[in-house]
Amino acid sequence: MKYYPEIKLDIEKAAEFLELPPSRIAELIEKRKLQHNWDDFDNIYRFEGHAPHLEDGTVLIDHHGSFELIRGFPKIKRAMLLGPALKKSFSEIGSVAVEEKMNGYNVRVIDYNRKLIAFTRSGHICPYSTERVQNFLERDFFKEHADIIVYGEMAGPENPYVQKYVYDIESLDFFVFDMRYKTTGEALSVNRRRELAEQYGFNQVRLFGELGIGEAPEKITEIIRELGKKGHEGVVIKDPEMVLQPIKYTCSESNCADLNQAFRFYNETGRDYLFSRVVREGFQSYEWAESEDEFQKRCQRLGESILRPMKETIKTVQNGERISDSFQIRVRDKKVIYKFKSYLERLGLYVMFEMPERQGNEYVIKIRKINKSTNDKTLAMLEGQLWS
Ligand code: ATP
Ligand code: MG
Repeated sequence: MKYYPEIKLDIEKAAEFLELPPSRIAELIEKRKLQHNWDDFDNIYRFEGHAPHLEDGTVLIDHHGSFELIRGFPKIKRAMLLGPALKKSFSEIGSVAVEEKMNGYNVRVIDYNRKLIAFTRSGHICPYSTERVQNFLERDFFKEHADIIVYGEMAGPENPYVQKYVYDIESLDFFVFDMRYKTTGEALSVNRRRELAEQYGFNQVRLFGELGIGEAPEKITEIIRELGKKGHEGVVIKDPEMVLQPIKYTCSESNCADLNQAFRFYNETGRDYLFSRVVREGFQSYEWAESEDEFQKRCQRLGESILRPMKETIKTVQNGERISDSFQIRVRDKKVIYKFKSYLERLGLYVMFEMPERQGNEYVIKIRKINKSTNDKTLAMLEGQLWS
């Protein structure tokens, strides 16, 4: 067997645990689809992209010969037309649980050597989320339920990924939306999960209730209209038993807020991201059988969310400034700042950290992410170069 110096994993044993041939594990390592997680842990590994039978971002922990799998969070498919999608996805069951879809970033938490660790969706250990989560979750839960992984949304303005002010959160907070068993990946029922979260004092995403399939499309439409007005994102519709796959549905306003943010940096955002958000508007407008007046408002909202930020970007670059994304984080331990910086750099981001500013027993650090590609492209256009 070939030797991979940077990986200490016992390939034979890992293969047995994952029920895969050792040659397959060796191949995953060779193709860099099974990698070391960074940071202080040299026995935590991460699957990059799709590994066989495993969700994206799955993590493998090697406890010196015995293994543990921390599965990635499964993708949630989207309803474009609420009525038909509910009928098709949930026809076998009588009712669905409707929970708020919060707009932050996905984090899963486990207890490891008497400390909580937070993984991002891609399976990286995020030093910032890891520090923060110690304040949000009671460790007792993990001692008493060592076989459960907690999944939740980190939301609020002070984070590097998605800054939202609409939740009345000053800095950052964690909202549980899922719990799964490590061994099988099986999810706890909505009620059981909510009960447990409540028992340990965890924040959770809002539950709008359990709705009969017949009434669900109309009731969810009402919920979506209300959430939209508040700038919230949308809902996730779940089988109360968590056997069938959940589906998501979102508000036009949140969709447009995404576009608004994305078009500021028009040259770095994936085209699928932009296109899918435009298509959603078409389907929602159709399903809601809007009046001409409502339709005009939607057109206005959509159009402005695309054009305004682009025009702003062009003006900014023309004025000799550089467009950038600014946000701040808050930490207790100064060491986390440097760990986090190197983490972002390893992810390939170009970031500038200002000097930490002391606030009480914490430090606040302002960070600027430079969007080089959009700056360069805009400058080139202003200098008369052709698009391609
Ligand atoms: P994109 O936004 O580009 O489609 P994404 O990976 O962020 O990609 P989402 O569309 O946001 O996927 O939908 C899934 C995500 O929604 C989950 O990963 C989770 O972080 C988040 N989420 C928020 N609230 C809930 C909830 N109540 N139940 C399940 N997931 C939730
Ligand atoms: Mg999201």
